[in-house]
Amino acid sequence: MTDCIYLVKLGELTLKGSNIRLFEKKLIENIKTYLKHTGSHITLRAGRMYIEADESRAEDIEYALKYLIGISGWARARICEKNIESLAQAVLEEARAAKEAGAKTFKIEARRGDKSFPLTSYEICREAAAPVCDAQLLDVDVHRPDLTVHVEVRERCFVYGNPHKACRGLPVGTGGKGLLLLSGGIDSPVAGYRMLRRGMRLEAVYFHAYPYTSDEAKKKTEDLAAVLARYALSMRMHIVSFTEVQMRIKQTGPENWSTMLLRMCMMKAASAIAREVRASCLISGESLGQVASQTIENLSVTESAGNLPLLRPLIGMDKEEITETAIAIGTYETSILPYEDCCVLFAPKHPVLHGTLEEACFLYGKLDCDSLIEKAVAEREVKTFSL
Ligand code: ATP
Ligand code: MG
Repeated sequence: MTDCIYLVKLGELTLKGSNIRLFEKKLIENIKTYLKHTGSHITLRAGRMYIEADESRAEDIEYALKYLIGISGWARARICEKNIESLAQAVLEEARAAKEAGAKTFKIEARRGDKSFPLTSYEICREAAAPVCDAQLLDVDVHRPDLTVHVEVRERCFVYGNPHKACRGLPVGTGGKGLLLLSGGIDSPVAGYRMLRRGMRLEAVYFHAYPYTSDEAKKKTEDLAAVLARYALSMRMHIVSFTEVQMRIKQTGPENWSTMLLRMCMMKAASAIAREVRASCLISGESLGQVASQTIENLSVTESAGNLPLLRPLIGMDKEEITETAIAIGTYETSILPYEDCCVLFAPKHPVLHGTLEEACFLYGKLDCDSLIEKAVAEREVKTFSL
């Protein structure tokens, strides 16, 4: 059995004061969930997490580190004997690997936690860099090197290259629970991800209108929930059939108000589900001004129908930023599949742009659809997605 070791830098939780232990405990609990059955040994020391396991588990560990929220970066380290020959050899191997990946320049950063080691940090750098220069592998550049080789001499010795970036944020499970209104679009999965990064646990609700929306549209949203669950560790999804509610809106409401009335009905239903599952807020993917239903007046109308705080983490982001995040977190490819959302199908040609609360309340009352909403909520389907 050969061991591999990963050094993991913790994220924002290092800024915590007296309650830091709670955050650390949750982070460890979460990484253990990813790595159960891998025989990994996980320890936390001085703002660092160390993961050791058999070499054959490297892929599992790297998968976990890609999705674990609460860490800012990680590197796979070489473990060395505590002498300069062994350290220099590891540096040389690191330089060779980086050269193959296209690096041209390097520098070494040494830290000597163990003061009984006979060389100073400066001497370690000099001695360990020499073989790389002699072999003409890489040139030294102390300002903007392609590769920084970190040499750490502590109770054990580690050598590692450029760290990989991680998700950052606070560990999932430290920030309460929210109910995400998850559609098949680009925005709402990103909104969910952003709240996960604030430590929230998530459940999701999706409204569909079969047969007006297809099973593919539902499947697409389930696929998005599955991607989010990689970060969330586990996520329940409530699938609510809104066909009857939509029909009522179509028959009763004025056409230009149909999207806004549907929004209000969604808020009502989502609030009821949130209360039942003890979520303390709703989360949507709205962004100011993006579409007609997202003018500031219409956003007020939407939230007036719910009775919990409605968080809108994307409110100040533009579409390009949201799309970049969607690509980075792996939801974009699914979001752009062509199946239409229920809102699009019932979208009016000339939607109201600056709805007033008075008119919204009046029209909503006329719908008289609270019992339809209750029925839809009661008959919902529930699915669970996990890692
Ligand atoms: P998205 O890309 O997230 O679909 P969007 O830009 O298409 O958003 P809208 O369709 O107006 O905007 O939806 C605004 C928000 O309302 C969504 O981000 C989502 O949170 C919620 N939402 C819309 N449709 C649904 C649905 N069918 N089920 C659950 N939530 C929905
Ligand atoms: Mg949408």
